[in-house]
Amino acid sequence: MLLAREKCVFIDGVWIAGQGDDIQSVDPSTGTRIALLRAARAEDVSLAAEAATRAFLSWRRVPASQRAVYLRAFAQGLRDRKDTLVALQMLNNGKPRIEAEIDVDDASATFDYYAELAASFDARQDGAVELPDPTLRGRARHEPVGPVALIVPWNFPMVTTAWKLAPALAVGCTAVLKPSEFTTPVELVYGDIAQEIGLPAGALNILPGAGAVGGAMTAEPRFRKISFTGSNTTGRRVMAAAAERSVPVSLELGGKSPIVVMEDADIAQAIEIASLGIFFNAGQMCSATSRMIVSDRIADDVIAGLRRHVSKMVVAGPDNPAAEMGPLTTKAQRDKVLEYLLRARHDGLDCIAGGASTGPQAGYFVEPTIYVDVPTEHAIWREEIFGPVLAIRRASSDDEALELANDSEFGLAATVVGRAGAEDIANRIDAGHIWINSPQIIFPNTAWGGFKSSGIGRELGPWGLAAYSGVKHVTSRVIT
Ligand code: NAD
Repeated sequence: MLLAREKCVFIDGVWIAGQGDDIQSVDPSTGTRIALLRAARAEDVSLAAEAATRAFLSWRRVPASQRAVYLRAFAQGLRDRKDTLVALQMLNNGKPRIEAEIDVDDASATFDYYAELAASFDARQDGAVELPDPTLRGRARHEPVGPVALIVPWNFPMVTTAWKLAPALAVGCTAVLKPSEFTTPVELVYGDIAQEIGLPAGALNILPGAGAVGGAMTAEPRFRKISFTGSNTTGRRVMAAAAERSVPVSLELGGKSPIVVMEDADIAQAIEIASLGIFFNAGQMCSATSRMIVSDRIADDVIAGLRRHVSKMVVAGPDNPAAEMGPLTTKAQRDKVLEYLLRARHDGLDCIAGGASTGPQAGYFVEPTIYVDVPTEHAIWREEIFGPVLAIRRASSDDEALELANDSEFGLAATVVGRAGAEDIANRIDAGHIWINSPQIIFPNTAWGGFKSSGIGRELGPWGLAAYSGVKHVTSRVIT
């Protein structure tokens, strides 16, 4: 199947043919090309910024309750296309059906959630600020920051976009979106829906392309904010470009998240949660709990259980309904993961499951892999691998577990499995989102973002609105 779409650049409400480089999408289960598109050119960034700047003047004045109507229509548009979007993500990302369905549901739930917040946004404006001078009155408003640049990765394409686009539009910002060059086709749905629901021209613009287009966006002076999700390497470049112009950034970057399994944990639950935390989306999750720290009192049972569990996992393309884990999404990512596995073998790490590629040669499959007693200085313990690779260490006390959990440059997410003291451990881990005895469920109401090198700012919840608005304080003399 080759998805053909000549017009894939969306500027000022109109689809136009891209004139930039070729970008292709690949089915990672087979390595075959499924789409060939022409990207936007760096010059298109200027046109899109102009459209977004013009549209901002009126979009910000649209009553927020009316913006809510558009957001609900976005949610409905996604639901109406669910079958197609699920199929496209299975094909382009290699996600098992259930995972592709979760993504589409998450994206539409995010638009619904921000529609709710937008509906009451104007009523929450002008909150009184008490001042120590009775002759003066204070009030606070939340104003949209302006046209914004949104740059997203390939691992959860629809979701990372929804988490940015819905709150940006809700507060009255206009947006220029650059999807990942690896997963463009599914992201074009946002332009299709914008046209279908009559979103004012220029409120959303989409520029497919690779890093050059992203780089041109970060240098474009008309964007008043850059919201980026991706790797730390690119995140640093984005931040440096934003620093040149002193504009704010939100950065959602990498992680090396811990899962702490306490001595009173339910072992079956720990195995299930740990497995989902590292093998969901083939481990290509910024929040993947890729470091397990397990109490040495139960470590042998947990490790044996995990090994049994992994030996039964079905690793296959999404055309196999039994697939529990699919391929990695890109060849480059598969090769990167295999390099880590080679290094682990070379360094003699204790591999109790997996450790190699698997499945059809042409596909990008990697075995679910587990290393135990990994040295803390080893790359497998310290670096974000972004694949199905779990590193395990034992700890003899909660304090030791905590020390290991926090000994990382990252601080995105964490999981605690246990009973007594689990809440306390959660309070003491440096991470932006912590699950206790729960798989990684994320609701639009919750905060998302990291401490330390995992990023700057928060998405989702009311914090998502704050990311695209600025506080304006008005002080007026009371007229008597
Ligand atoms: P990436 O940094 O390679 O690319 C991300 C986006 O940036 C893509 O759209 C890419 O085209 C663009 N880009 C590349 N060079 C650019 C430049 N110079 N200027 C501007 N944009 C540029 O990341 P990726 O491989 O697509 O995604 C994987 C990474 O994303 C992982 O590190 C993962 O942890 C992270 N991630 C973080 C979160 C989070 O919420 N914290 C969520 C998902 C993914």
